[in-house]
Amino acid sequence: MDPVTESLNELHRRISALTGGEVASYIPKLAQADPDDFGIAITSMSGHRYQAGKADTAFTIQSVSKPFVYALALTDLGPDEMLRHVGAEPSGEAFNAISLEPGTGRPANPMVNAGAIATTALVKAADPAARSARILGWLSAFAGRPLDHDEDVYASEAASGDRNRALAYLMRSAGSLEDDPYSVTDTYFRQCSVRVTAADLAVMAATLAKGGLNPVTGERVVSQDVAVRTLAVMATCGMYDGAGQWLLNVGLPAKSGVAGGLIAASPGRFGIALYSTPLDTEGNPVRAVAALTEMSERFSLHLMHAPVHLTTTVTDTVHAARSSRARDSAQAAVLDRDPRRIAVVGAQGDLEFTETEQLLNAVVRATPATPGAMVLDLTAVTGISPGPATMIIATLADLQRRGHHVAIALQQPFLDQADGHPGSWTTTRDDAVAWCEDRFLSGEHPVGAQDIAPHSQ
Ligand code: GLN
Repeated sequence: MDPVTESLNELHRRISALTGGEVASYIPKLAQADPDDFGIAITSMSGHRYQAGKADTAFTIQSVSKPFVYALALTDLGPDEMLRHVGAEPSGEAFNAISLEPGTGRPANPMVNAGAIATTALVKAADPAARSARILGWLSAFAGRPLDHDEDVYASEAASGDRNRALAYLMRSAGSLEDDPYSVTDTYFRQCSVRVTAADLAVMAATLAKGGLNPVTGERVVSQDVAVRTLAVMATCGMYDGAGQWLLNVGLPAKSGVAGGLIAASPGRFGIALYSTPLDTEGNPVRAVAALTEMSERFSLHLMHAPVHLTTTVTDTVHAARSSRARDSAQAAVLDRDPRRIAVVGAQGDLEFTETEQLLNAVVRATPATPGAMVLDLTAVTGISPGPATMIIATLADLQRRGHHVAIALQQPFLDQADGHPGSWTTTRDDAVAWCEDRFLSGEHPVGAQDIAPHSQ
Protein backbone atom coordinates (compact mmCIF):
# COMPACT_ATOMS: atom_id res chain seq x y z
CA MET A 1 0.00 0.00 0.00
CA ASP A 2 1.31 3.47 -0.87
CA PRO A 3 2.23 5.76 2.04
CA VAL A 4 -0.52 8.34 1.35
CA THR A 5 -3.26 5.70 1.46
CA GLU A 6 -1.67 4.20 4.53
CA SER A 7 -1.74 7.48 6.41
CA LEU A 8 -5.33 8.18 5.21
CA ASN A 9 -6.38 4.76 6.51
CA GLU A 10 -4.76 5.45 9.83
CA LEU A 11 -6.51 8.82 10.13
CA HIS A 12 -9.79 7.25 9.01
CA ARG A 13 -9.53 4.55 11.67
CA ARG A 14 -9.01 7.02 14.48
CA ILE A 15 -11.56 9.63 13.41
CA SER A 16 -14.21 6.92 12.77
CA ALA A 17 -14.45 6.46 16.52
CA LEU A 18 -15.58 10.06 16.93
CA THR A 19 -19.26 10.43 17.75
CA GLY A 20 -21.40 13.52 18.19
CA GLY A 21 -23.37 15.68 15.80
CA GLU A 22 -26.78 15.20 14.24
CA VAL A 23 -27.73 13.89 10.82
CA ALA A 24 -29.75 16.59 9.02
CA SER A 25 -33.45 15.80 8.99
CA TYR A 26 -35.14 18.96 7.70
CA ILE A 27 -34.87 17.30 4.27
CA PRO A 28 -36.60 14.05 5.39
CA LYS A 29 -34.80 11.78 2.92
CA LEU A 30 -31.37 12.81 4.26
CA ALA A 31 -32.26 11.46 7.73
CA GLN A 32 -32.08 7.92 6.31
CA ALA A 33 -28.31 8.16 5.72
CA ASP A 34 -26.03 5.92 7.80
CA PRO A 35 -24.29 8.04 10.49
CA ASP A 36 -21.39 5.56 10.58
CA ASP A 37 -20.46 6.00 6.91
CA PHE A 38 -17.16 7.84 6.70
CA GLY A 39 -15.02 8.32 3.61
CA ILE A 40 -11.96 10.37 2.73
CA ALA A 41 -10.54 11.01 -0.74
CA ILE A 42 -7.63 13.04 -2.04
CA THR A 43 -6.71 14.00 -5.59
CA SER A 44 -3.21 15.36 -6.10
CA MET A 45 -2.07 17.90 -8.68
CA SER A 46 -0.70 15.09 -10.83
CA GLY A 47 -4.13 13.46 -10.84
CA HIS A 48 -3.26 10.68 -8.39
CA ARG A 49 -6.27 9.55 -6.40
CA TYR A 50 -6.16 8.19 -2.86
CA GLN A 51 -9.01 7.12 -0.65
CA ALA A 52 -9.99 5.51 2.63
CA GLY A 53 -13.32 4.20 3.95
CA LYS A 54 -16.59 4.91 2.17
CA ALA A 55 -15.17 7.18 -0.52
CA ASP A 56 -17.32 5.57 -3.24
CA THR A 57 -20.62 5.88 -1.36
CA ALA A 58 -23.02 8.19 -3.20
CA PHE A 59 -24.72 11.11 -1.46
CA THR A 60 -26.15 14.44 -2.60
CA ILE A 61 -23.80 17.33 -3.13
CA GLN A 62 -26.09 19.91 -1.43
CA SER A 63 -24.21 23.11 -0.53
CA VAL A 64 -20.90 21.80 -1.85
CA SER A 65 -22.42 22.68 -5.25
CA LYS A 66 -22.44 26.38 -4.31
CA PRO A 67 -18.81 27.29 -5.07
CA PHE A 68 -18.92 25.47 -8.42
CA VAL A 69 -22.15 27.13 -9.54
CA TYR A 70 -20.68 30.44 -8.35
CA ALA A 71 -17.70 29.73 -10.63
CA LEU A 72 -20.15 29.17 -13.51
CA ALA A 73 -22.07 32.41 -12.92
CA LEU A 74 -18.77 34.26 -12.48
CA THR A 75 -17.58 32.88 -15.82
CA ASP A 76 -20.87 34.01 -17.43
CA LEU A 77 -21.00 37.48 -15.86
CA GLY A 78 -17.48 38.56 -14.94
CA PRO A 79 -16.47 39.72 -11.45
CA ASP A 80 -17.99 43.23 -11.42
CA GLU A 81 -21.44 42.21 -12.61
CA MET A 82 -21.37 39.22 -10.25
CA LEU A 83 -20.63 41.45 -7.27
CA ARG A 84 -23.55 43.73 -8.15
CA HIS A 85 -25.90 40.79 -7.65
CA VAL A 86 -24.27 38.79 -4.83
CA GLY A 87 -21.84 40.14 -2.20
CA ALA A 88 -18.63 38.55 -0.98
CA GLU A 89 -18.73 39.29 2.74
CA PRO A 90 -18.96 36.56 5.37
CA SER A 91 -22.40 36.79 6.92
CA GLY A 92 -21.52 35.32 10.32
CA GLU A 93 -24.95 33.72 10.18
CA ALA A 94 -26.41 30.27 9.61
CA PHE A 95 -26.53 28.90 6.05
CA ASN A 96 -30.30 29.43 5.80
CA ALA A 97 -30.45 32.82 7.56
CA ILE A 98 -33.08 35.22 6.33
CA SER A 99 -30.92 38.30 5.97
CA LEU A 100 -30.22 40.52 2.99
CA GLU A 101 -28.27 43.77 2.59
CA PRO A 102 -30.47 46.63 3.77
CA GLY A 103 -31.50 48.86 0.89
CA THR A 104 -30.45 46.63 -2.00
CA GLY A 105 -31.70 43.21 -0.87
CA ARG A 106 -28.40 41.79 -2.11
CA PRO A 107 -27.47 38.50 -0.40
CA ALA A 108 -24.24 38.59 1.67
CA ASN A 109 -22.30 35.94 -0.26
CA PRO A 110 -22.84 33.00 -2.63
CA MET A 111 -22.17 30.35 0.04
CA VAL A 112 -25.29 30.98 2.15
CA ASN A 113 -28.62 29.80 0.72
CA ALA A 114 -29.93 33.24 -0.28
CA GLY A 115 -26.74 34.01 -2.20
CA ALA A 116 -26.64 30.54 -3.74
CA ILE A 117 -30.23 30.78 -5.00
CA ALA A 118 -29.48 34.22 -6.48
CA THR A 119 -26.32 32.76 -8.06
CA THR A 120 -28.21 29.85 -9.62
CA ALA A 121 -30.59 32.41 -11.15
CA LEU A 122 -27.64 34.14 -12.82
CA VAL A 123 -26.50 31.07 -14.77
CA LYS A 124 -27.25 31.85 -18.41
CA ALA A 125 -29.78 29.50 -20.01
CA ALA A 126 -32.88 29.67 -22.20
CA ASP A 127 -35.19 28.07 -19.64
CA PRO A 128 -35.07 26.29 -16.25
CA ALA A 129 -34.54 22.83 -17.80
CA ALA A 130 -31.60 24.11 -19.83
CA ARG A 131 -30.20 25.79 -16.71
CA SER A 132 -30.39 22.55 -14.72
CA ALA A 133 -28.77 20.66 -17.58
CA ARG A 134 -26.01 23.23 -17.84
CA ILE A 135 -25.31 23.06 -14.09
CA LEU A 136 -25.21 19.25 -14.18
CA GLY A 137 -22.79 19.31 -17.13
CA TRP A 138 -20.65 21.89 -15.35
CA LEU A 139 -20.43 19.89 -12.10
CA SER A 140 -19.62 16.80 -14.19
CA ALA A 141 -16.71 18.61 -15.87
CA PHE A 142 -15.28 19.38 -12.42
CA ALA A 143 -15.77 15.75 -11.33
CA GLY A 144 -14.39 14.35 -14.59
CA ARG A 145 -17.34 11.99 -15.10
CA PRO A 146 -21.06 12.32 -15.91
CA LEU A 147 -23.03 12.91 -12.70
CA ASP A 148 -26.79 12.47 -12.21
CA HIS A 149 -29.54 13.55 -9.81
CA ASP A 150 -30.89 11.71 -6.79
CA GLU A 151 -34.58 12.07 -7.65
CA ASP A 152 -35.71 10.96 -4.17
CA VAL A 153 -33.69 13.59 -2.35
CA TYR A 154 -34.78 16.19 -4.89
CA ALA A 155 -38.45 15.33 -4.31
CA SER A 156 -37.94 15.31 -0.56
CA GLU A 157 -36.35 18.75 -0.58
CA ALA A 158 -38.92 20.15 -3.02
CA ALA A 159 -41.65 18.97 -0.65
CA SER A 160 -40.04 20.58 2.38
CA GLY A 161 -38.21 23.57 0.91
CA ASP A 162 -40.48 26.43 1.93
CA ARG A 163 -37.82 28.28 3.84
CA ASN A 164 -35.66 28.50 0.70
CA ARG A 165 -38.70 29.55 -1.33
CA ALA A 166 -39.37 32.23 1.27
CA LEU A 167 -35.81 33.49 0.81
CA ALA A 168 -36.29 33.64 -2.95
CA TYR A 169 -39.60 35.53 -2.64
CA LEU A 170 -37.96 37.93 -0.21
CA MET A 171 -35.16 38.63 -2.70
CA ARG A 172 -37.66 39.12 -5.49
CA SER A 173 -39.63 41.65 -3.46
CA ALA A 174 -36.41 43.43 -2.48
CA GLY A 175 -35.39 43.65 -6.15
CA SER A 176 -32.36 41.35 -5.97
CA LEU A 177 -33.91 38.44 -7.88
CA GLU A 178 -35.46 38.87 -11.30
CA ASP A 179 -36.58 35.32 -12.07
CA ASP A 180 -39.65 33.52 -10.80
CA PRO A 181 -38.79 32.56 -7.19
CA TYR A 182 -40.57 29.20 -7.31
CA SER A 183 -38.84 28.08 -10.48
CA VAL A 184 -35.37 29.32 -9.42
CA THR A 185 -35.67 27.51 -6.10
CA ASP A 186 -36.63 24.37 -7.97
CA THR A 187 -33.47 24.64 -10.10
CA TYR A 188 -31.49 25.17 -6.89
CA PHE A 189 -33.02 22.01 -5.35
CA ARG A 190 -32.03 20.04 -8.47
CA GLN A 191 -28.51 21.43 -8.19
CA CYS A 192 -28.36 20.34 -4.53
CA SER A 193 -29.59 16.84 -5.42
CA VAL A 194 -26.70 16.02 -7.77
CA ARG A 195 -25.25 12.71 -6.67
CA VAL A 196 -21.52 12.49 -5.91
CA THR A 197 -19.02 10.45 -3.92
CA ALA A 198 -16.14 11.72 -1.80
CA ALA A 199 -13.86 10.51 -4.63
CA ASP A 200 -15.76 12.78 -7.09
CA LEU A 201 -15.65 15.76 -4.75
CA ALA A 202 -11.89 15.35 -4.28
CA VAL A 203 -11.38 15.73 -8.05
CA MET A 204 -13.69 18.75 -8.06
CA ALA A 205 -11.73 20.39 -5.22
CA ALA A 206 -8.43 19.49 -6.88
CA THR A 207 -9.59 21.26 -10.05
CA LEU A 208 -9.99 24.47 -8.05
CA ALA A 209 -6.65 23.83 -6.30
CA LYS A 210 -5.01 23.50 -9.72
CA GLY A 211 -6.22 26.89 -10.91
CA GLY A 212 -9.22 25.54 -12.84
CA LEU A 213 -7.47 22.63 -14.57
CA ASN A 214 -8.94 19.19 -13.86
CA PRO A 215 -5.85 17.15 -12.88
CA VAL A 216 -7.49 13.84 -13.84
CA THR A 217 -8.99 14.68 -17.25
CA GLY A 218 -6.54 17.45 -18.14
CA GLU A 219 -9.49 19.67 -19.12
CA ARG A 220 -9.47 23.39 -18.31
CA VAL A 221 -12.82 23.82 -16.60
CA VAL A 222 -12.50 27.45 -15.45
CA SER A 223 -9.96 30.23 -15.82
CA GLN A 224 -7.27 30.67 -13.18
CA ASP A 225 -8.90 33.95 -12.17
CA VAL A 226 -12.31 32.35 -11.57
CA ALA A 227 -10.70 29.49 -9.61
CA VAL A 228 -8.85 31.96 -7.38
CA ARG A 229 -12.00 34.01 -6.72
CA THR A 230 -14.02 30.90 -5.97
CA LEU A 231 -11.41 29.68 -3.47
CA ALA A 232 -11.33 33.15 -1.88
CA VAL A 233 -15.07 33.11 -1.26
CA MET A 234 -14.81 29.56 0.09
CA ALA A 235 -12.07 30.70 2.48
CA THR A 236 -14.11 33.55 3.91
CA CYS A 237 -17.67 32.22 3.69
CA GLY A 238 -17.55 28.48 3.00
CA MET A 239 -18.02 27.33 6.57
CA TYR A 240 -20.95 29.66 7.38
CA ASP A 241 -20.86 31.00 10.94
CA GLY A 242 -17.89 28.69 11.66
CA ALA A 243 -15.80 30.32 8.90
CA GLY A 244 -13.54 32.39 11.19
CA GLN A 245 -12.77 29.52 13.52
CA TRP A 246 -12.14 27.30 10.50
CA LEU A 247 -9.64 29.75 9.00
CA LEU A 248 -7.87 29.88 12.35
CA ASN A 249 -7.67 26.13 12.88
CA VAL A 250 -7.47 24.67 9.39
CA GLY A 251 -6.64 27.59 7.13
CA LEU A 252 -7.90 26.14 3.85
CA PRO A 253 -10.74 27.20 1.54
CA ALA A 254 -13.53 24.73 2.18
CA LYS A 255 -17.22 24.06 1.67
CA SER A 256 -19.57 21.78 3.55
CA GLY A 257 -22.95 20.35 2.62
CA VAL A 258 -25.89 19.23 4.71
CA ALA A 259 -25.75 15.65 3.32
CA GLY A 260 -22.33 15.22 4.97
CA GLY A 261 -19.92 16.22 2.21
CA LEU A 262 -17.04 18.60 2.79
CA ILE A 263 -14.33 19.72 0.39
CA ALA A 264 -11.14 21.63 1.02
CA ALA A 265 -8.55 22.80 -1.46
CA SER A 266 -4.86 23.20 -0.77
CA PRO A 267 -3.85 25.40 -3.71
CA GLY A 268 -1.12 23.80 -5.79
CA ARG A 269 -1.13 20.68 -3.62
CA PHE A 270 -4.39 18.72 -3.64
CA GLY A 271 -8.15 18.63 -3.29
CA ILE A 272 -9.63 16.65 -0.41
CA ALA A 273 -13.18 15.54 0.26
CA LEU A 274 -14.75 13.86 3.25
CA TYR A 275 -18.13 12.27 3.75
CA SER A 276 -19.77 11.79 7.14
CA THR A 277 -23.37 12.71 7.92
CA PRO A 278 -23.49 13.85 11.59
CA LEU A 279 -23.23 17.66 11.58
CA ASP A 280 -22.17 20.11 14.27
CA THR A 281 -24.32 23.08 15.27
CA GLU A 282 -22.87 25.15 12.41
CA GLY A 283 -23.95 22.53 9.88
CA ASN A 284 -20.47 21.13 9.21
CA PRO A 285 -19.69 17.37 9.36
CA VAL A 286 -18.09 16.61 12.74
CA ARG A 287 -15.63 13.92 11.57
CA ALA A 288 -14.61 15.92 8.51
CA VAL A 289 -13.81 18.98 10.61
CA ALA A 290 -11.76 16.86 13.05
CA ALA A 291 -9.87 15.06 10.28
CA LEU A 292 -8.99 18.24 8.41
CA THR A 293 -7.98 20.08 11.55
CA GLU A 294 -5.51 17.31 12.31
CA MET A 295 -4.24 17.00 8.72
CA SER A 296 -3.69 20.73 8.39
CA GLU A 297 -1.49 20.70 11.47
CA ARG A 298 0.43 17.53 10.56
CA PHE A 299 1.19 18.62 7.00
CA SER A 300 1.46 22.40 7.59
CA LEU A 301 -1.36 23.08 5.14
CA HIS A 302 -2.52 26.36 6.66
CA LEU A 303 -2.62 29.04 3.95
CA MET A 304 -0.81 31.50 6.19
CA HIS A 305 2.00 29.05 6.80
CA ALA A 306 5.06 30.37 4.92
CA PRO A 307 5.69 28.05 1.98
CA VAL A 308 8.98 26.17 1.85
CA HIS A 309 10.89 26.71 -1.39
CA LEU A 310 12.31 23.30 -2.09
CA THR A 311 13.86 23.91 -5.49
CA THR A 312 16.67 26.35 -6.08
CA THR A 313 15.89 28.85 -8.80
CA VAL A 314 19.44 29.69 -9.90
CA THR A 315 21.04 26.59 -11.41
CA ASP A 316 24.45 28.00 -12.31
CA THR A 317 26.49 31.13 -12.85
CA VAL A 318 29.28 31.25 -15.46
CA HIS A 319 31.70 34.18 -15.54
CA ALA A 320 33.59 33.51 -18.77
CA ALA A 321 31.21 31.88 -21.20
CA ARG A 322 32.12 30.89 -24.76
CA SER A 323 29.83 29.44 -27.39
CA SER A 324 30.47 26.27 -29.38
CA ARG A 325 30.83 28.34 -32.62
CA ALA A 326 34.07 27.81 -34.57
CA ARG A 327 36.08 31.05 -34.45
CA ASP A 328 39.29 31.78 -36.40
CA SER A 329 42.42 32.79 -34.53
CA ALA A 330 41.85 36.54 -34.96
CA GLN A 331 38.31 36.23 -33.62
CA ALA A 332 39.45 33.98 -30.78
CA ALA A 333 42.04 36.62 -29.86
CA VAL A 334 39.33 39.29 -29.60
CA LEU A 335 37.14 37.05 -27.49
CA ASP A 336 40.06 35.96 -25.31
CA ARG A 337 41.13 39.54 -24.59
CA ASP A 338 38.74 39.74 -21.69
CA PRO A 339 37.22 36.30 -21.26
CA ARG A 340 35.19 37.45 -18.26
CA ARG A 341 33.05 39.69 -20.43
CA ILE A 342 30.23 37.21 -21.02
CA ALA A 343 28.42 36.09 -17.88
CA VAL A 344 25.61 33.56 -17.85
CA VAL A 345 23.02 33.00 -15.13
CA GLY A 346 20.82 29.92 -15.47
CA ALA A 347 17.45 29.44 -13.75
CA GLN A 348 14.74 26.82 -13.53
CA GLY A 349 11.13 26.33 -12.45
CA ASP A 350 8.31 28.83 -12.08
CA LEU A 351 9.31 32.45 -11.56
CA GLU A 352 7.14 34.10 -8.94
CA PHE A 353 8.29 37.02 -6.79
CA THR A 354 10.66 35.09 -4.51
CA GLU A 355 12.29 33.14 -7.33
CA THR A 356 12.72 36.24 -9.47
CA GLU A 357 14.28 38.11 -6.60
CA GLN A 358 16.83 35.27 -6.23
CA LEU A 359 17.49 35.23 -9.97
CA LEU A 360 17.99 38.99 -10.28
CA ASN A 361 20.27 39.09 -7.23
CA ALA A 362 22.42 36.47 -8.95
CA VAL A 363 22.39 38.60 -12.13
CA VAL A 364 23.59 41.65 -10.19
CA ARG A 365 26.40 39.60 -8.59
CA ALA A 366 27.48 38.11 -11.95
CA THR A 367 27.36 41.31 -14.01
CA PRO A 368 30.83 41.95 -15.54
CA ALA A 369 32.69 44.85 -13.96
CA THR A 370 33.38 46.45 -17.34
CA PRO A 371 30.79 46.64 -20.12
CA GLY A 372 30.34 43.10 -21.34
CA ALA A 373 27.42 40.78 -21.80
CA MET A 374 24.84 39.11 -19.62
CA VAL A 375 23.07 36.01 -20.75
CA LEU A 376 19.98 34.81 -18.88
CA ASP A 377 19.49 31.12 -19.56
CA LEU A 378 15.82 30.59 -18.70
CA THR A 379 15.39 27.49 -20.89
CA ALA A 380 14.50 25.42 -17.81
CA VAL A 381 11.97 28.01 -16.63
CA THR A 382 8.42 26.66 -16.83
CA GLY A 383 6.37 29.73 -15.90
CA ILE A 384 6.86 33.49 -15.52
CA SER A 385 4.19 35.58 -13.80
CA PRO A 386 3.48 39.06 -15.22
CA GLY A 387 5.07 40.96 -12.29
CA PRO A 388 8.31 38.95 -12.44
CA ALA A 389 8.43 39.34 -16.24
CA THR A 390 8.36 43.12 -15.79
CA MET A 391 11.17 42.92 -13.19
CA ILE A 392 13.35 40.83 -15.54
CA ILE A 393 12.78 43.16 -18.51
CA ALA A 394 13.55 46.23 -16.37
CA THR A 395 16.80 44.61 -15.20
CA LEU A 396 17.84 43.77 -18.77
CA ALA A 397 17.01 47.29 -19.96
CA ASP A 398 19.09 48.71 -17.12
CA LEU A 399 22.06 46.48 -17.96
CA GLN A 400 21.80 47.62 -21.57
CA ARG A 401 21.76 51.28 -20.59
CA ARG A 402 24.93 50.63 -18.64
CA GLY A 403 26.67 49.33 -21.77
CA HIS A 404 26.14 45.58 -21.54
CA HIS A 405 24.85 43.36 -24.29
CA VAL A 406 21.95 41.32 -23.00
CA ALA A 407 20.64 38.04 -24.35
CA ILE A 408 18.03 35.72 -22.99
CA ALA A 409 17.31 32.09 -23.83
CA LEU A 410 13.75 30.88 -23.26
CA GLN A 411 11.38 28.13 -24.29
CA GLN A 412 9.54 28.89 -27.55
CA PRO A 413 6.12 29.75 -26.02
CA PHE A 414 7.68 32.55 -23.95
CA LEU A 415 9.68 33.70 -26.94
CA ASP A 416 6.50 34.19 -28.95
CA GLN A 417 5.51 36.93 -26.48
CA ALA A 418 8.89 38.66 -26.56
CA ASP A 419 8.31 41.42 -29.13
CA GLY A 420 10.02 44.71 -28.45
CA HIS A 421 11.99 43.61 -25.42
CA PRO A 422 15.65 44.51 -24.89
CA GLY A 423 18.52 42.45 -26.29
CA SER A 424 18.50 39.18 -28.14
CA TRP A 425 15.95 36.45 -27.39
CA THR A 426 16.72 32.89 -28.47
CA THR A 427 15.88 29.33 -27.46
CA THR A 428 19.33 28.04 -26.44
CA ARG A 429 22.08 29.22 -24.14
CA ASP A 430 24.67 28.56 -26.86
CA ASP A 431 22.85 30.82 -29.37
CA ALA A 432 22.56 33.55 -26.76
CA VAL A 433 26.28 33.41 -25.92
CA ALA A 434 27.19 33.27 -29.64
CA TRP A 435 25.04 36.36 -30.27
CA CYS A 436 27.00 38.25 -27.58
CA GLU A 437 30.31 37.09 -29.07
CA ASP A 438 29.19 38.30 -32.51
CA ARG A 439 28.48 41.74 -31.03
CA PHE A 440 32.02 41.91 -29.60
CA LEU A 441 33.51 40.70 -32.89
CA SER A 442 31.68 43.37 -34.86
CA GLY A 443 32.59 46.02 -32.25
CA GLU A 444 28.95 46.96 -31.64
CA HIS A 445 27.71 48.68 -28.55
CA PRO A 446 24.38 47.66 -27.16
CA VAL A 447 21.37 49.49 -28.59
CA GLY A 448 20.14 51.98 -26.02
CA ALA A 449 23.43 52.13 -24.11
CA GLN A 450 23.79 55.57 -22.53
CA ASP A 451 27.04 55.03 -20.77
CA ILE A 452 29.64 52.65 -22.04
CA ALA A 453 32.29 53.76 -19.60
CA PRO A 454 33.57 50.96 -17.37
CA HIS A 455 31.02 50.29 -14.69
CA SER A 456 32.25 49.48 -11.27
CA GLN A 457 30.12 47.82 -8.64
N1 GLN B 1 -30.22 22.02 -0.17
C1 GLN B 1 -29.82 22.48 1.12
C2 GLN B 1 -30.65 23.67 1.54
O1 GLN B 1 -30.78 24.59 0.82
C3 GLN B 1 -28.39 22.85 1.10
C4 GLN B 1 -27.92 23.40 2.42
C5 GLN B 1 -26.60 22.89 2.85
O2 GLN B 1 -26.07 21.93 2.30
N2 GLN B 1 -26.05 23.46 3.89
O3 GLN B 1 -31.20 23.71 2.62
